[in-house]
Parts: sequence; C-alpha cells; structure tokens
Amino acid sequence: MLKVLKFGGSSLADAEQFRKVAAIVKSNPANRYVVASAPGKRFPDDIKVTDLLLECYRLARKKESIDGPFGKIEDRFRGIIADLGMNLSLESEFATIRLVIKNRASRDYVASRGEYLNSMILAEYLGYAFLDAEDAIFFTDDGSLDLVRTDESLQVLLSEADRAVIPGFYGSMPNGTVRTFSRGGSDITGSIVARASKADLYENWTDVSGMLMADPRIVSDPEPIPCITYRELRELSYMGASVMHEDAIFPVREAGIPINIRNTNCPEAPGTMIVASDEQATKPPHHVTGISGKRGFSAIHVEKSMMNGQKGFGRRVLQVLEEHGINFEHLPSSIDTMSVVVNTAELEPERDAVIKALEKSVAPDHIDIVNDLALLAVVGRGMVRAHGTAYRVFKALASVDVNVRMIDQGSSELNIIVGIDAVHYEKALEAIYKEFVK
Ligand code: ADP
Ligand code: ASP
Ligand code: MG
Repeated sequence: MLKVLKFGGSSLADAEQFRKVAAIVKSNPANRYVVASAPGKRFPDDIKVTDLLLECYRLARKKESIDGPFGKIEDRFRGIIADLGMNLSLESEFATIRLVIKNRASRDYVASRGEYLNSMILAEYLGYAFLDAEDAIFFTDDGSLDLVRTDESLQVLLSEADRAVIPGFYGSMPNGTVRTFSRGGSDITGSIVARASKADLYENWTDVSGMLMADPRIVSDPEPIPCITYRELRELSYMGASVMHEDAIFPVREAGIPINIRNTNCPEAPGTMIVASDEQATKPPHHVTGISGKRGFSAIHVEKSMMNGQKGFGRRVLQVLEEHGINFEHLPSSIDTMSVVVNTAELEPERDAVIKALEKSVAPDHIDIVNDLALLAVVGRGMVRAHGTAYRVFKALASVDVNVRMIDQGSSELNIIVGIDAVHYEKALEAIYKEFVK
C-alpha cells in the first residue's frame, strides 16, 4: 500500500497545524509522499503567504520596498520553526529570495516560494527527503503540463527517495525557469505525484470534512458527499466548488487512482471518496450529489427571424467570439434567438468590438447583452434515472421568487444548469439545497 498525501494551506498555516499533519502522516507507514502548500490563513482576515509573495512581486515591479510583506513572510516561517522547536535556519534562503525578487524575478518564481520554503520545513520536521518540484515537474513551451516528461523524471526521483516531501503548485519550463499552475494548483501536484508513484490512494487534506453538497460559506452546515465520481466532481469544481482544483482530476483519473478528500482538523471523519465510474461509486444518499455555482456571467442574445433556416449562423456567431478570444460556457437557442453565455470578465474589454463584428457577420435583428448573471449547477449521477429533477429545481427557485433566465441540461444528463440574476445567488442556492436535502 502506498499513499500520497497533499496538505492545503490552512492545514500548514502554523505550528499547531504542522503537528496535526505530522500525526496524520506518521499514523500509517504507507504515507510515503507528501505534497505541501504554502501557509494559508490562520483566521478569516489573515493573508495567505502566496498573496504576500504576490504583493512583493507587485511592489518590486514598481521598484518599491518589499520589506513590509517580505518581513511578514519571514516572520511566519520563523514562527513555525520556533514553535515547533526545530533546529533549522532558513535565513540564507530568505536572503537569496529577497535578492532575486528585488532583481525582478518572474511572477511565477515569486509566487512559488511559499510552497518551496514550507516544504523544506515539513520535510525536516517529518524526517523525510525534500524533493524540489523544479527538478520533477515540467511544462512545455506553451505552458501546459508535460505529463510524459514529468512522469518519467518523477518516477526516477521517487524511486530514489523512500519518503519525501514535494512542494506543490510549481515546476519548471523547458528553459529552466519556474512556472506555477493556476491558484490552488498544489492539488494538481498531488495528483501528478500519486500517478508517478503508482499510489493506491491520493489523500487530499484540507479544512472541511470532504466535498460538501454546497458551498459552506453560503449554506450553513451542508452535508458531506460520501462518494462522488470524477465526472461529477469536475462539473461541481468547474462551477465553483473550489475544494479541489478541477485540473487535478486528469492525472489520477487515467491511472485509476481514487482520491479521498479529508479534514486535517477532523481526521476521524471519512471525508469524500472520488472514484472513476458509477459502478465503483456507492449509492448516493440524495437525489442530487451536489450543487455549486458561480457569478460573473453575461448572456449575449442574438435575435434574427428565421435564423433556424440559415446554415452556418451559429458557427459565425461562435467564430466572432473565437476571434476575440472569448470562450463560451453555454449556448441555449430557440427558433429566432441564440444566446451565448460567456464570462463577463472576458467579454467586457471586447464588448463593443464583439457587437460590431456580430452585426457585420450575421446581420441580426437585435443584439442584447445581459450582465450580472450567476449560473447554478445541480449535479448528480442519479439524475439520469430519476424523474422530476428539473421540476424540483424550478419549484425551489419559484418558492423564493427567483426568475430563471436560462436553462441548460448537459447532454450527459449529469447536470442541470440554470442562469439567474446574480443578486439572487445565495437564496437560490439555499432553496435548491433545501429542496433536495432537508
Ligand atoms: P486548501 O487550502 O486545503 O487547498 P481550499 O481553500 O482550496 O483548501 O478548499 C477548501 C475550501 O473550499 C473550504 O474551506 C470551503 O470554504 C470551500 N468550498 C467551496 N465549496 C465547497 C464545497 N462544495 N465543499 C467543500 N468545500 C467547499
Ligand atoms: N499556495 C497556492 C495558492 O494559494 C497554491 C495552493 O494553495 O494550492 O493558490
Ligand atoms: Mg486548494
């Protein structure tokens, strides 16, 4: 039995958390490889070390002093080392990093140093080897993960280290510079290490007792999901259930390694098992598996009578978006109208140009852009067989006077997406949760 454990920022935020982590790691000899994040928040208003580092980067670029945020970073690491009673000094590391930041280091290098330093401490504290992700995880020139090269080199390095701590979140580019994943990317590192070490299980330790049926910051005390499939999890995390980075699924999915989301502050809770297929999953306790959602969407409504009969209409609309670098999320349409749901942040800078280009390309009768939409995803492997899911979603929304602006049922029947006005986001989520859970 071999397990890879990834600990998130709040699990390694201070010395007390380090002690919990060490107790978890030491509780089972199968726990051989550990992936660590940078110290996260200790209390709600605290600042994550990664954010302090990004602040240093911002200041250095403006040639301003980084002493304020960098001093805070040093103090956090010094505090952890001192409170753990360790005989370790990172002073020369601090001096090097400080100098490199002042000399215009890249954003990714700066952002990655929290994982780097925290993993050094954890490796020493556990008595494990420190294996730098720079030497093990590789990106291609276009910035995507080079899984083949990474797998090969990691397999060699891991075979030489019986037990090791690997920093999450970063790796290196073909030219040797540091590159990070997007925020929350240590989850991906954990998944890559689990794959390369052919682990039996990837445990992802965080500050909640598994994936919950809804965002705990909105619905009070939501039930944990005992078992979820990769596909369901991807749908939920893409739509904002941010427990696990959505790209963390691919490396383990291919290798058939299950993931177990666990709570560092409540190690006795079983957490959530993430499995490859419906057959491997246990029976879901509720009609739906989970509900998630995101704000910040806009709908572009394009109206033209008889558009249905015009071949290539949809393609031309999407081509305009593509030419302006905008992804589309959903595409509900009817006889004379086609709506394209997009990210507001992507659309806004291109808005006028997009309208002009659409007018030229498809000569619509009318174009209308609606902002401030939120999308809610109701996800569940059990929905295919059960009847009335959409009805219950609408009933719940109607009961709190929320108007449905758009609906899209994924072709997999795994999810129902509804678009609503963003101001109603919280009450809509609560109402749907109540309808299906209690
Ligand atoms: P870590 O630092 O351990 O990687 P994250 O902050 O990335 O942890 O993810 C855990 C957080 O995700 C939880 O504290 C919770 O606030 C948030 N979250 C949002 N939606 C959900 C959900 N459906 N289930 C569980 N947690 C959720
Ligand atoms: N520390 C990084 C972040 O805050 C990566 C991670 O925590 O996974 O995004
Ligand atoms: Mg995370």
